[in-house]
Amino acid sequence: MQSDVQRHVVVIGGGIAGLSAAASLADRGIRVTLLESGDRLGGRVSAWPTGDGRTMSRGFHAFFRQYYNLRSLLRRADPGLVSLMPVEDYPLQRSDGTRDSFAGLPRTPPFSVLGFMRRSSGFTVRTLARVNIPAAVELLRVSFPETFSRYDGESAAAFLQRLRFPAGARDLALEVFARSFFAHPEHFAAGELIAMFHTYFLGSAEGLLFDVPVDDYDSTLWGPLGSHLHAQGVTTRTGASATSIHLTDGAAIVTTGDERIAADAVVLAADPRAARALVQGLDAAGGAQWREQVCRTQNAPPFTVVRLWLDTLVDESRPAFVGTSGYGPVDNVTVLERFEQGAATWSAGHRGSVIELHAYACDATVGLDPCAAARLVARMERELHRIYPETASAATLHREILVRDDCPVITPEEWAARPGVVTPWSRLVLAGDAVRCDYPVALMERAATTGILAADRLLAGWGLAGHDVWTVPMSGLLARPRARRDHAPREENVTTSAGLRRCQPTRSQSG
Ligand SMILES: Cc1cc2nc3c(=O)[nH]c(=O)nc-3n(C[C@H](O)[C@H](O)[C@H](O)COP(=O)(O)OP(=O)(O)OC[C@H]3O[C@@H](n4cnc5c(N)ncnc54)[C@H](O)[C@@H]3O)c2cc1C
Repeated sequence: MQSDVQRHVVVIGGGIAGLSAAASLADRGIRVTLLESGDRLGGRVSAWPTGDGRTMSRGFHAFFRQYYNLRSLLRRADPGLVSLMPVEDYPLQRSDGTRDSFAGLPRTPPFSVLGFMRRSSGFTVRTLARVNIPAAVELLRVSFPETFSRYDGESAAAFLQRLRFPAGARDLALEVFARSFFAHPEHFAAGELIAMFHTYFLGSAEGLLFDVPVDDYDSTLWGPLGSHLHAQGVTTRTGASATSIHLTDGAAIVTTGDERIAADAVVLAADPRAARALVQGLDAAGGAQWREQVCRTQNAPPFTVVRLWLDTLVDESRPAFVGTSGYGPVDNVTVLERFEQGAATWSAGHRGSVIELHAYACDATVGLDPCAAARLVARMERELHRIYPETASAATLHREILVRDDCPVITPEEWAARPGVVTPWSRLVLAGDAVRCDYPVALMERAATTGILAADRLLAGWGLAGHDVWTVPMSGLLARPRARRDHAPREENVTTSAGLRRCQPTRSQSG
């Protein structure tokens, strides 16, 4: 490879994974053309104006403090991360009136989890006596990526049953995770749930606390990041859908509209369904088994987001965000004026609240039948009246409804058979939250991390330096010494005072 030849990469998809890949490639002087089929950046974390100073988004997102790689992406345009503000707590509320909170817990594991158990009404001496201790110890013995494979075939529901955690604690502390992945616990991989338990409870000091953008995603996050990428030389084209990929010995050719863009390589960072369609039509020799692996990936059932502009303020004691259990289809409630500037301005002007309701893993009919969707929305609003009774008499001045099914589900099938960043062709790499990754990361952080890993794979092929990738420690507090040692040659781990690990991804990513 000639070092004076400027390489060109087409990145398909302007969500977090595509943005992360584009920024990482541009760092090393690669010419990047980013194609986004929608009319704005951010993908599933995008937001748009709806008139009258109001905005709608793809739904409330929690920016957890363990999202090291996503945060470093955002820092490119916002070095002090002033566009994020902390949400003081992540309360979890059950319909029987009990509540749990993650604020004010000790920061060091396992004292953090012990503190949570001591405080939680879900854990009593009697219910704790029923816990399956060997299964609970498994949570402390994790060692990634092996742990992902160890639970092949076991669902999150089966693991929760085996664990015999007290029902309340199981619903609140664990099932909430499975549903936040848009999946029924029966269809969600136990390994993934255990990874999240490690990340949030046992493997890091940050716990379940998170930050949120101070205004809508477009104006706070993706607008500034798009400008930063432009300054880095990235060509960003919104409203440009990639319709095919052709790989030859000498080039990667992406078609969009009537145009054929020739490049050295492609990062496919589209959402899972769009990525499957592009792989099905991929014009390249070989790779039959890999194509099958990609086509076997699945989307989660539909989710529903309802945003309401009410003529009444909710009680000032209501938190910015609450996870719920036992309120029919409602999984969480957000009071947007607590942190989004646009919502706060609307709220002050109308003496009303801007409320968002989420329902995950909805019945498939909700995505197909408008009447089923309308029934679900009516039910969600009735449940809101139970959760925050002061809303029952409020009039709804505006309502936005979004039903989509574009999230992946990580099923209990063989973890190693999921498509990773590396493909059979050196000119094509994958990125996104559906893509297998060795590290205990998920959702937005997996998208950001695989974006870096995809870029680094291409950079390594061209003899260029990669990037540091950060993760919580790869093994649990009681991991066998052998498991800990086995990681040593795979990564250059640097344990910081916060207990983080820095990994050299080009060595540890197994494709
Ligand atoms: C309601 C909801 C709440 C969520 N809450 C959280 C949360 O609290 N915390 C968290 O970490 N995660 C959360 N997530 C998940 C998070 O949104 C995703 O994990 C993340 O945004 C995935 O990013 P991505 O880049 O992999 O994919 P996407 O964001 O889907 O980006 C893919 C992009 O590719 C584009 N595209 C598709 N086809 C083409 C084509 N042919 N040509 C060009 N472009 C194309 C799409 O338009 C899209 O912009 C939530 C998701 C939803 C829906």
